[in-house]
Amino acid sequence: MAIERKKFKIDDTIWYARAGQSDCQITCPDCLGTRRLRVIMGDNSEVSIDCACCERGYLGCTGTITEYKFKAELKSAIIDGIEQNRDETRYRIGCWIINANDAFETPEEAGERAKQLVKEAVDAERQRLISKEKPAKTWAQNASYHRQRIKQAQKDLDYHTAKLSVAAFKSKEDKAVEVPK
Ligand SMILES: [Zn+2]
Repeated sequence: MAIERKKFKIDDTIWYARAGQSDCQITCPDCLGTRRLRVIMGDNSEVSIDCACCERGYLGCTGTITEYKFKAELKSAIIDGIEQNRDETRYRIGCWIINANDAFETPEEAGERAKQLVKEAVDAERQRLISKEKPAKTWAQNASYHRQRIKQAQKDLDYHTAKLSVAAFKSKEDKAVEVPK
């Protein structure tokens, strides 16, 4: 339920709060920009796999991730329009839409709300980064899969190499038989 708040009118001046956002590219915290990760298997052998933390679709691993920063912002403006539905009121300022929960009479009140919005945005960003840690299982699964394939390929190589040497040996025997005078 929305808290009962003072209702503003068109042409009222309000203070409104926002969590201003900026982003920058930082070095991937998992691979430290190398784009590869080393996985230690149960027998202490190490394998190298693509870093899933900084992988970006078709771009592949970039060695960097986007970090978002937030800061409390206060603005004062005159209300141009009001949108009202059953559950909420929104104020229009130019092309901006301000939720009634973020609109206040004084900058002090708006400042408190902006701090709260920043905290919410920081928490959401932290959650996003934590969810990035989940692919760890996939990395390990990938590493395990590729290692199994390498083992199988090694077996195939040994098998076919052995077959080939038998074939070479046999063909020598054949030749020995084939060259009678
Ligand atoms: Zn990375």
